[in-house]
Amino acid sequence: MSGKFDVLIVGAGPAGVTTAICLGNSGLKVAVIDKACFPREKICGDGLTLDVINQLFLISPRLYAAFMDFNSKLPCSGAEIFSPSLDRFSLGVRPDSEKKPMFTCRRIDFDDFMFGELKQYENVCTFENCIPLKIIHAGDSIILDTNQGRFEGSILVGADGVNSFVAREMGVKHITKEQQCVALRTYYRGLKPLSEGSAIEMYLAKEILPGYLWIFHLADGSSNVGLGMPAKVIKRKGIKLKKCFEGLLMSEPLKSRLAGAERTDAVRGRIIPMGGQKRDISGNRFILTGDAASLVDPITGEGVGNAIRSGRVAGKHIIRCFKSADFSGAANKAYDAEIYRRMKNEFRFHLSLQKLLYYPGLLNYILGSAANYPEVELSLKQLIWNLHSGAIFSRILLVFRLIYLFTFQRLFASRNRPKKGFSQQVS
Ligand SMILES: Cc1cc2nc3c(=O)[nH]c(=O)nc-3n(C[C@H](O)[C@H](O)[C@H](O)COP(=O)(O)OP(=O)(O)OC[C@H]3O[C@@H](n4cnc5c(N)ncnc54)[C@H](O)[C@@H]3O)c2cc1C
Repeated sequence: MSGKFDVLIVGAGPAGVTTAICLGNSGLKVAVIDKACFPREKICGDGLTLDVINQLFLISPRLYAAFMDFNSKLPCSGAEIFSPSLDRFSLGVRPDSEKKPMFTCRRIDFDDFMFGELKQYENVCTFENCIPLKIIHAGDSIILDTNQGRFEGSILVGADGVNSFVAREMGVKHITKEQQCVALRTYYRGLKPLSEGSAIEMYLAKEILPGYLWIFHLADGSSNVGLGMPAKVIKRKGIKLKKCFEGLLMSEPLKSRLAGAERTDAVRGRIIPMGGQKRDISGNRFILTGDAASLVDPITGEGVGNAIRSGRVAGKHIIRCFKSADFSGAANKAYDAEIYRRMKNEFRFHLSLQKLLYYPGLLNYILGSAANYPEVELSLKQLIWNLHSGAIFSRILLVFRLIYLFTFQRLFASRNRPKKGFSQQVS
């Protein structure tokens, strides 16, 4: 089972599989090792953002096309966002753009789809139910002892998620509470989306801000219902998260929303490692990707997109390492630099946006204005659609636009629509 390889990848989630795909047909011998057997469950919200879809295209148009043909996903052309006072803001996909929709897809299916992609690469070998026991630096190679024997390679990739064995063994500092979010999820059957195409619902309940509760509708008719919150806020408020989650589900508006639906799974939770704090994510003969490197979006908790992005960066970096025959800690610093070059601004920007979520009154004002004034609603949509365009300049403009939106525009806007409350839509 074991043997000599060039690259050892521990973890076959989106980060590890992407790294392997990017090394497919490279001529390097790659081993992908996972402690689970696919298809395997992954606790997640099951939301695949536009970023994920774009990343698949960047890996290869063929992979993107295969995903488009994949049946187990549900396209999502909109999200319903509820303010703490239950004003409803419907955010659609930008109508004037070529942009693809987002999707929801059970991770057991998505990850199995990605894992299946590895079969087409002769240079990639997969090892399931394979548990790493020990990592040994051995001069010009790195050795991984597992329950299936000894693997030897020139470089090791830790793509083994939030509790990364590779990170731990290599002495990489564990993330602090500041960087952790705790998230729970369960599944329901018998819930329908509030409007056609809107597979995503987000509830900004006051008790859990700056976190949120979600309902993501899935292709098989079931719905993923979950909640995420920064660990430091949970601690500060003394919240028992599971109890809080159950409490929210049993009180209005969610009580009415879930009436008639049946829970089909237990509530399960995990830590989400948020990006934002720069730390070492590589060293002598190893690099970390995805959750193992703490690359989750600090505002939404989305990590699949960045896991794939880091896998793409890792693939290119490893090829460069082999070209220069340099796998040293110093050479691998280029990997850290490239990851943070791509993600630093986004993390910083989202961490500053997250601050808005600490103020329920402000959210009520913003989303309430959008719910009541069509002009404000359109401006808010445009603002969100353009959030990531034009980088710095548009971010400076954001502040001015917010002031304009919620002061002057609201003054002159016509209040010509009934308030779109939650209960009116559900009944
Ligand atoms: C409740 C919850 C909801 C979330 N919702 C979303 C969402 O809707 N959208 C989104 O984009 N992100 C979401 N995330 C984050 C997302 O799940 C992760 O960011 C993403 O899965 C990271 O991918 P990865 O490949 O780095 O790690 P993982 O997907 O965790 O994959 C790691 C792999 O490594 C294997 N492994 C672990 N340890 C070992 C070991 N010691 N030896 C060998 N193999 C090992 C595992 O079996 C697994 O296959 C959510 C997370 C949680 C907890």
